[in-house]
Order: sequence, then C-alpha cells, then structure tokens
Amino acid sequence: MKRREFVKTLGAGAVAGGTVLAAPAVSAKSNQTRNWKMVTTWPKNFPGLGTGANNLAKLVTDMSGGRINVKVYGAKELVPPFEIFDAVSRNTAQMGHGASYYWKGKSQAAQFFAAVPFGLTAQEMNAWIYHGGGMELWQEIYAKFNLVPTAALNTGVQMGGWFNKKINSLKDLNGLKMRIPGLGGEVLNRLGGTAVSLPGGEIFTSLKSGAIDATEWVGPYNDLAFGLHKAAKYYYYPGWHEPGTTLECFINKEEFDALPKDLQSIVLNASKVANLDGLSELTARNNAALDTLVNKHNVKLIKFPDDVLKQLRKVSDEVVAEVAKNDPMSQRVYDSYIKFREATMAWHDVSERAYLNARAL
Ligand code: CA
Repeated sequence: MKRREFVKTLGAGAVAGGTVLAAPAVSAKSNQTRNWKMVTTWPKNFPGLGTGANNLAKLVTDMSGGRINVKVYGAKELVPPFEIFDAVSRNTAQMGHGASYYWKGKSQAAQFFAAVPFGLTAQEMNAWIYHGGGMELWQEIYAKFNLVPTAALNTGVQMGGWFNKKINSLKDLNGLKMRIPGLGGEVLNRLGGTAVSLPGGEIFTSLKSGAIDATEWVGPYNDLAFGLHKAAKYYYYPGWHEPGTTLECFINKEEFDALPKDLQSIVLNASKVANLDGLSELTARNNAALDTLVNKHNVKLIKFPDDVLKQLRKVSDEVVAEVAKNDPMSQRVYDSYIKFREATMAWHDVSERAYLNARAL
C-alpha cells in the first residue's frame, strides 16, 4: 500500500485497534497536506513587500515538506487589502500579511506592533518583540480576533516621504493631505494636516492626480518601484514616524492550534527567518535605489530641519501617550514599549549611536 493510501485509510478510521497504530495515527495528522491561502495588503509580487510575503509562503511550504502548502493572493485577488484581518479571523484564508497599524479600528493597541513615531529601530523592535515582552502582549491582543501574530518583515528606518513643497516649519504640515498610516498619521492630524490611509497600490495615482498632497511609503527600493519620484519633487528624511516598521503575518488561531508541534514551530520560525531576511534585503537594495533616485532621476533629497524634528518628537510623544489612554490594553502595551525604549536608548547611546557617529568622523 502506498503511503498516501495508508494514511488516508487511517484517517477514515477503517483500521482500528492494535498498538501498532498509535504512532502512524500521529503521523497521519502530521503528514496530511494543508492547502493554506495567504492574503496580503500588498500588490502581488510587489518588490520587497509582496515578495516578502511570497518568501514567507515558500519558507513554510519548503520547511514543512509541503505539509502546509501556502498560496499567496495579492491585494484584491481574494479580498480587498484592508479586509485581510477579518478574512483570516473567520478562516476564509489561513494566513495574512500586512501591518498592524492598519487595524487600529479594531484595536488601538495593535498600532504599537507596526511603528511608533520616534520609537524603536528595527533591531530594538525585534529585541522588544522576541525578548522584551512584546510578543506576549501582541498574542494576547490578536487571540481575541482568533489570530496568532508573527513579525514577518522589518523595513528598517523608513523615509520621511514625498512632498511637492518644502517643509521648513510645522506650519507647512498644516492643511497638508498626506498618505501616512498609524500613529504618524495621528501626529499629522494634530498639526492640522489630514492623514489618509491608502493601500500601496493606490498611492501613485492619488499623488499624481492631486487627490493627496504628499505621501510616505517605505524607503528608496519600494518607493522607486512605485515611481513616486514622478509625482513629487522632494524626498524627505528621516522617517521619524516609522523608525523600524514591523510588517506582520497572522495565522487563523484555530488552524494554528490544530497543527502538530513541529508545524507550529515551522510557521513561527519561518516567520522569524522572513522577518530578519526582509530587513537584510531592504537594507541592501535601498543602497542602490537611493543612488538611482538621486543620481539618475535627480530627486531632491532633503533632511527635515532639526527644529521640525524636535517639535515632531514632542507632539509625537503627546499623541502616543494619549492613544495609550484609550483602553487598558493600549496602556499596558505603551508601558512595556516605552520602558523598553528608555532602556535600549541608554544602551544604544553607547553602542550603535556612538559607533555610527564615530564612523562618520
Ligand atoms: Ca510607511
């Protein structure tokens, strides 16, 4: 009897009794093929983000020897980009790939797991999530939505965004309609601007048509792929609002809980590989893309004035502290995050920052 037929027979319960069946019964569960759908907020195969989702799907499929066979659906292919959270929650798809600040309407606390203005860098974010208590809080929040979260791709420090007028003071943000998600968007609203949350695929046409005045997206590699330099003159840095954004994967919790332990480990560890590999890839590709934008497309690269950044920092800290007061969970996440930021700043002042300053002398 071929293995597949043997397993199928076991699954049907046609073979009963006998000690010999105990071990095969376990492997029957373990070896069954699960065809999982992964829905994403990104355009299909979009460089860096869509391909990051593809990479995670391939890792899970390969590492599991095909026992979990993951098929990726780009934005709108199965469900609209901002409906993936609900789709995975109700098991229309088994995995989702997006960013947790898109779900602030479901949970204000979720935003902290994507990006906080003037918050943690990529390295610090991973430290908080994996070793600083962040993941436990994230799991607690998503469990209420029947989801298991993982960190699935860190972008590193993002860029400040694309503008058609210079930003010389906070007043220049007043009245500005800008695509900027999450807590950074809340800061812009506080300064008299209007934050718009648009999925990636709609950004270029919105900026080109003037439906929005400005946008941020990710960094040189991703921004170049959308051709944002064809719709705006000035490219500002640094991305104060997204200093080390974590893109996420989430898995339907019932499906995850039903997996044998080895497959649970594969899903979690494939995510960890994708998270770290995504940062490595974007870091490498941003170097070349920045060069192309500046030297080939003559993009005007401008740093936000220091006094603008200083004031943005002040307003950001106020806005983030207020978000924490929305509900007890937001407060718990905020307390954990801020405590970690203080500790890591003290360490990184004498390590990363001291070194980067020394290297630039
Ligand atoms: Ca962004």
